[in-house]
Amino acid sequence: MPIKYYEAPDVQDLAQRIVAQLEFRHIDLNGTYCYRSRNSKSKRTVARIHSLSKVWQKALNRSASYLIEVISERYDRLSQEEKEKVLIHELLHIPKGFAGGFRPHRGNITRKKIDALHQKFAARIG
Ligand SMILES: [Zn+2]
Repeated sequence: MPIKYYEAPDVQDLAQRIVAQLEFRHIDLNGTYCYRSRNSKSKRTVARIHSLSKVWQKALNRSASYLIEVISERYDRLSQEEKEKVLIHELLHIPKGFAGGFRPHRGNITRKKIDALHQKFAARIG
């Protein structure tokens, strides 16, 4: 079965709430898309982030855009809290400049940091 992609308004909504509550002001929500995939061959991935690289931005005359893909078979069965943490993780890959590149895991995206941000998010949404 080939991989298929579907718009994911539920993921978009959650990402929007996280960006708002955690005040990730560098993230342009109009340039951030969320999709759900089915039939991905990757066995362990829950979500991943894609971007329109600088050269594609130039070729297509488009501004920077990011796309969070959640893998339906694994993401959908997570608890709400786990989903929130997965999206916090993916959003942390978006660098301050929102230019098309990525921030790496090392030093940026750690379990400890995600847990701390999630605690803040949970406290704010009450
Ligand atoms: Zn990651």
